[in-house]
Amino acid sequence: MRLSQYPINTVKETPSEAEVISHQLMLRAGMIRRVAAGIYSWLPLGLRALRKVEGIVREEMNRAGAFELLMPAIQPAELWQESGRWAEYGPELLRLKDRHQRDFVFGPTHEEVITDIARREIKSYRQLPVNFYQIQLKFRDEVRPRFGVMRAREFIMKDAYSFHVDERSLAEGYAAMRAAYTRMFQRMGLNFRTVQADTGAIGGSASEEFQVLAASGEDAIAISDADDFAANVELAPALPPTAPRAPPAEPLARIPTPGAHTIEQLSTLLGIPASRCLKTLIVAGDDGTPVALLLRGDHDLNAVKAQKLPGIANPLRMASAAAVQAATGSRPGSVGPIGLTGVRVYADHAALAMADFVCGANVEDQHFTGTNWGRDLPAPAAADLRNVVAGDPSPSGNGRLQIVRGIEVGHIFQLGCKYSAAMNATVLDEAGNPTQMLMGCYGIGVTRIVAAAIEQNHDQRGIIWPDPIAPFTVYLVALNLQKSPRVRAAAEALYAELGAAGVEVLYDDRDARPGVKFADAELLGIPHRVIVGERGLEAGTLEYRHRRSTDSVDVPQQAALEFIRSRLQFASPV
Ligand code: ATP
Ligand code: MG
Repeated sequence: MRLSQYPINTVKETPSEAEVISHQLMLRAGMIRRVAAGIYSWLPLGLRALRKVEGIVREEMNRAGAFELLMPAIQPAELWQESGRWAEYGPELLRLKDRHQRDFVFGPTHEEVITDIARREIKSYRQLPVNFYQIQLKFRDEVRPRFGVMRAREFIMKDAYSFHVDERSLAEGYAAMRAAYTRMFQRMGLNFRTVQADTGAIGGSASEEFQVLAASGEDAIAISDADDFAANVELAPALPPTAPRAPPAEPLARIPTPGAHTIEQLSTLLGIPASRCLKTLIVAGDDGTPVALLLRGDHDLNAVKAQKLPGIANPLRMASAAAVQAATGSRPGSVGPIGLTGVRVYADHAALAMADFVCGANVEDQHFTGTNWGRDLPAPAAADLRNVVAGDPSPSGNGRLQIVRGIEVGHIFQLGCKYSAAMNATVLDEAGNPTQMLMGCYGIGVTRIVAAAIEQNHDQRGIIWPDPIAPFTVYLVALNLQKSPRVRAAAEALYAELGAAGVEVLYDDRDARPGVKFADAELLGIPHRVIVGERGLEAGTLEYRHRRSTDSVDVPQQAALEFIRSRLQFASPV
């Protein structure tokens, strides 16, 4: 491609609306343009990278034996009513009406449509297992679309759905997808981890996320420093402390704590660490009665864990100020477990290991000090309520946990019967009896991957594409070609030669200063750069540099094609 003819606008300045580096660079390189909040156009250069990602995803899905199909973006409400999600799905679901006032949704995912296809098309266990996938637009009306295409409202997903006659087949299908995902992300040159994930409201037996490691990632992941344990913090279990609780040393005392309504204010006022204060949170119960959750002051509540406990509303919600007042006689900020009656109480394991701690007195601006379980109040039910933190023992039994950030690019899931039961998707088993199909579902954020790859591969000057997903492989720069027929001739010859060899070249044949060309080369991040200039040609050489390297290599002009080929890094697809 000749850059002089390529529709591309690069921008020097960092766009102010872009918080993360990938969004900044995608805008500066002219890959995407915002149309509305969370809705983007992909311009030709960006689309090339996107198509590379799609290509790898498609190849690996096909290799794994899945069948590509294409389902509609707009889906009738009836299917969603059948599955129950018409009522369950919140405001993220974009609902529409047609001219006849019939209800539709713009699909955020396609379980209903595929289950409808499966129940019509698949009659016998002999047709199973089968895996269908598509690469298609989704819409989710995210509360906070941000980071460009990373958390968009409209985005492209590869979604796959497998159908099985029994659990064993489902587990095999799931393992095949896990292997395919691993290959895809390896081929894309991404640094990723496969982590245990929450199965959410659906339940199901297994679920894992593929997380691209990056500081800007929205997910926190707990990994062991001694083995390959990795789990989303949403789900990583916090082991109960093994050391015995210290015996009481202080008397219980009620003290005034004016203005101290947060753990931070309390620990500053009393000059003690947050870990000596008890955090009491009042959350909504599933029957209207609030529930008290007790945590060590320096620990954070884990909503995903808490909402699974009996008596707690799912999804988790904090109780209203009025409900807190009614249950405790006090406002949030002075609430504590002593004398709390008629309220179900759960204490985190670490909270139960505290001694001589400070907690709210259920009287405005008063706290207890020297509180001890058993002596001053009965120990409540123990539960795992908190997020794990760095240094916690790994649930695998080996080593300690570290917390790293990740971008979720894929999610695989053993769904079981949720949709086939709701939508009556059965096949005849070996004995000729109808049996519900089991289902797995497997998502990949195709557009998100492009941004995630940039988060992981950039420097202060621009993008550094891994070869397999680069929009072009070689950036060919001709210096001052307007003045030098020799440079033009050599560059044109190499451009033709590389093209004939199937190498994708972006040929900078613009009438522009070398500085402009170099700056764009760095920004666009095409991995292999070749410079054709007068001085080099004088000595019979061209200059090669990898985008990741600071050193250039002089290559004999005659050997340029072979040299460049030897530098290409495409993980073999076989
Ligand atoms: P997240 O936790 O990031 O909201 P999710 O768990 O809702 O994602 P899934 O329903 O598992 O996402 O969708 C499959 C994949 O689609 C995700 O792994 C992610 O890569 C991608 N994806 C989900 N939401 C978005 C979005 N708003 N923008 C871009 N990609 C997304
Ligand atoms: Mg997910």
